[in-house]
Amino acid sequence: MKLSALPAFADNYIWMLHDDREALVVDPGDAAPVKSALSALGLSLGAILVTHHHADHVGGIPSLQTGSIPVYGPQREGIPGVTHPVGGGDMVLWHGLSFQVLDTPGHTRGHIVYILNEGLSSTDADPLAFVGDTLFSAGCGRLFEGSMQQLHESLNRLAQLPDHTRVCATHEYTLSNLRFAQAVEPDNPDIRGHLAHCQGLRAQNLPTLPSTMQTEKRINPFLRCDQPAVMAAALEHGAADTQPVSVFSALRLWKNTF
Ligand SMILES: [Zn+2]
Repeated sequence: MKLSALPAFADNYIWMLHDDREALVVDPGDAAPVKSALSALGLSLGAILVTHHHADHVGGIPSLQTGSIPVYGPQREGIPGVTHPVGGGDMVLWHGLSFQVLDTPGHTRGHIVYILNEGLSSTDADPLAFVGDTLFSAGCGRLFEGSMQQLHESLNRLAQLPDHTRVCATHEYTLSNLRFAQAVEPDNPDIRGHLAHCQGLRAQNLPTLPSTMQTEKRINPFLRCDQPAVMAAALEHGAADTQPVSVFSALRLWKNTF
């Protein structure tokens, strides 16, 4: 089973898994890059997973869903074209892979993520997390529908995944997120090192994703609300106290205008 990131729009990735015959795509906001990849590789589309209802994640469904292709999506969002509504605790089975569904409300009310705990095969066994717009490398999604408490809890849930989990987010926001992370923690050497690494990748037009959960725990301010330097920065930007959710809320509001 192979993993690839299909660039879409200005800065989206549509994640694709395939076994050289059949493919699964996650969050196909646009059908065109999926159709190009399927035809270039001689694949047929076997399943679609979606994380939330925003147009840049679901816009390609109508023209991709032909015949009996199953479309899995959040049961709380009523997305047109979803044939299999799922929620936290459900499993999605496809070609021997078991995707665990987790509820991660906040960015939207019904946002879900899909976790492949066993990886792609016995020789490629690091877990994968298809996190939509909940977690980005060095950042997190905006709060559109849920509460700060919900989004904070959703990110904490993801932070409990094993360190070697590959983080497949939907947007290439890493460089701008790392500049914000540096404003929060100017003395964090991991952020500096990762920024240089990612600048090199982007200079070659390569994705900075997947990241890993271990990297995120070192560089992502939204997963570091218990760190003294992050707490201090949050207090300077409106946090009422150093409770993790207060720190998180201050960071999220600060980032909105950064
Ligand atoms: Zn979104």
